[in-house]
Amino acid sequence: MMNIDQFPADIRPYILPEPKGEMFYQCLGCRSELGIDNLLYTCPDCGSVLLLHDKNFDRIKELGGKRWREIFDYRRMLNHQSLKGVFRYYEFIAPIFPLDQIIYLGEAHTPVVKANGYLKEMLGADFYFKDDGLNPSASFKDRGMACALSYINYFAKKKNIKNLLAICASTGDTSASAALYSSYMGDFLRSAVILPHGKVTPAQLSQPLGSGAKVFEIPGVFDDCMKVVESLADNYHVALLNSKNSWRILGQESFAYEIAQDFDYEVGNKAVVLPIGNAGNITAVMGGFLKFFEAGIIEKLPKIIGVQSEHADPVFRYYLEEDINKRSYVPVTVQPSTAQAAMIGNPVSMPRVIKLVQDYNRAAGEKRVYIVQVSEQEIMDSMIIANQNGNIACPQGGESMAGFKRAIEKGYTGPEDVGILDSTAHMLKFMNFQEMYFMNNFGPEFHVKPRPELKNAPVFLKPERLKKVPEPGKPLEGKDMEKFVQELTAEIAGILELEKK
Ligand SMILES: *Cc1c(COP(=O)(O)O)cnc(C)c1O
Ligand SMILES: [Zn+2]
Repeated sequence: MMNIDQFPADIRPYILPEPKGEMFYQCLGCRSELGIDNLLYTCPDCGSVLLLHDKNFDRIKELGGKRWREIFDYRRMLNHQSLKGVFRYYEFIAPIFPLDQIIYLGEAHTPVVKANGYLKEMLGADFYFKDDGLNPSASFKDRGMACALSYINYFAKKKNIKNLLAICASTGDTSASAALYSSYMGDFLRSAVILPHGKVTPAQLSQPLGSGAKVFEIPGVFDDCMKVVESLADNYHVALLNSKNSWRILGQESFAYEIAQDFDYEVGNKAVVLPIGNAGNITAVMGGFLKFFEAGIIEKLPKIIGVQSEHADPVFRYYLEEDINKRSYVPVTVQPSTAQAAMIGNPVSMPRVIKLVQDYNRAAGEKRVYIVQVSEQEIMDSMIIANQNGNIACPQGGESMAGFKRAIEKGYTGPEDVGILDSTAHMLKFMNFQEMYFMNNFGPEFHVKPRPELKNAPVFLKPERLKKVPEPGKPLEGKDMEKFVQELTAEIAGILELEKK
């Protein structure tokens, strides 16, 4: 880490940004522009979702790609709390917050880990996992939450609001993140989360509880929870932290910016692969690359591969129709999916996706976005195989890997394209799916049959011959202990077929 005084004089004025942006919401339905001095999630006129823009973006572009690359590379060395997370890219995210109002809990700048030789050979292409499970609440959702909570902080200070309730519906990870970030704000911000009963993992349920949020479990799936949260937001004073909240999209753009910086701003030969649920993430990643492209920070846009499970695939179905004019969006009824965090039949961000895919392909001058579909079997096999080769992928990370494989099979990417797979959460959050695989106890509705060679289970050793074994508070001594160690050593060596020294 360096002190700013040690940076070259010509770069110093750019390192600590000032809030010079002029942000506004734009409705994706009627295109109207709305001010940011109200908490707003959908257009008051037409009800459509919004995206945030900066009126001063042209001025940002003027600085030129080279200068921006230098600014980000110097900021990487900087020791300044509020610029350590997603706000390293301050001007491209939300250039309106005073630096001391930015909330940072250690999110972002997650590692990109190169797939080992075995995985590379299996897929026939080089690829990396970007481990977003290494965020504070163990999923990528923290990127967006850092920005959304910074906005709430800024908004509340500006309006002198003394207390507020933040609320969200969730497939598990949004609520874990929302609860964590809200808890950091102390008494001023209480949080409540609404979860589909039995459709989040035990870890995902314990996270918001641990952060002190009020947790409501209701019958149904995520799409039903969303309806309840919308009704609450329509009728009461609450801050909504779902991906309808466009501030979250801005924070999640950092995933794209980091990939650019991690690969020295050369991303033309990359294929960024993401699982799609509510489609906020893929929206943000396309949006992020587009902004860097427009500012000349990257010269070519990477390919984007969106992945959906057969059991929750409305976005895939929409793009099956090649003719833009004939496409029509139809929500689907989801089936149980191991990629539970992406098990969504009516993605909130669908209008955003439609717009961004169009903009992205247009800017690239060719088709650069592909949506693929994978089976539940492929998702789980990929997750297990990835993790048996040094990774920490969750089922959705497995979905990314299965999706990259599909993109290769379909010819969407060639051997020259290097995959950057979003491993969206830490596998520890989804241990129960790993266990179901190893124990072969998926219900028939999942359509997953564990491959025997991939199964794993603990071996419980308690040789019959031993009369005495150690117990809590009752250690063995002398001869008994010797015998215990000897017997177990022999048994383990036998099972592992170890050679004697
Ligand atoms: C939320 C989530 C997704 C889906 O992301 P969307 O932005 O809803 O498309 C995928 N994986 C994990 C682990 C998630 O938490
Ligand atoms: Zn509108």
